[in-house]
Amino acid sequence: MSRKLAAVIGTGVAAALVVGSLIALALGHTNQPKPASASGPNGAPPSSVPSETPTPTPTPTNSGSPETGKPRTPAGDPTLAASAGNKKVLFFSFDDGPDPVWTPKILQVLAKYGAHATFFQLGTMQAAHPGLREQILAAGNTIGSHSISHPQLTAITPQKRHHEIFDGPVSKCFRPPYGASNPKVRADIKAAGMVQVLWDVDPRDWARPGTQAIVNNILAHARRRNIILMHDGGGERAQTVAALDKALRILKGQGYTFAAMAC
Ligand SMILES: [Zn+2]
Repeated sequence: MSRKLAAVIGTGVAAALVVGSLIALALGHTNQPKPASASGPNGAPPSSVPSETPTPTPTPTNSGSPETGKPRTPAGDPTLAASAGNKKVLFFSFDDGPDPVWTPKILQVLAKYGAHATFFQLGTMQAAHPGLREQILAAGNTIGSHSISHPQLTAITPQKRHHEIFDGPVSKCFRPPYGASNPKVRADIKAAGMVQVLWDVDPRDWARPGTQAIVNNILAHARRRNIILMHDGGGERAQTVAALDKALRILKGQGYTFAAMAC
């Protein structure tokens, strides 16, 4: 091989390495959390800290929010795919189901407004309430995994963590219970062929603060392409159902559409 050719090849390899690094950077970036809206309208305080209903595990409320940072979700992936060509779109999501009482009520409200959403389900609930998964999908919604039994994945053995992530509901999207994640959890989610999906807006419906409080929180923080966290399981959800009805009516009037994430 001539020295010149070797140099050309060498340059090519170097270029490939640079390109590879750039791609890695880009990929790494897409896996970075989507920054939460820093503030509400007119500089109002940010939405509540990420919180998750502790049920069905008997954990104290809010203990499931070990992450004190802002709610995060990977930019792109499921929401980008689902919102192509539609900028004024919101992604409602419902955790901890399916529930035989509340999931059908949520589905009714969604259908009333031509809305779709994503349901992050538990393996235990799916097994206990067969048929709801199919009903959700048939209505044009999508299903994400919320693990099998709602443990805090950052606080269990690697074996249990692996089981909860790999053997839970079938989906391309995974939302860790309580939003509790770390590099090991994320690595397992990725190895299982899924994308971690958190949220942008937590209207705290799990705490049952009153229907209007939930509505106000959603309206104050709803932004294009935001993911909104709600619950169709884990307890009595009458406020969630009523708040969803009100919020969808108002947001639809503002020109929003409501899509299911590509899970
Ligand atoms: Zn949950």
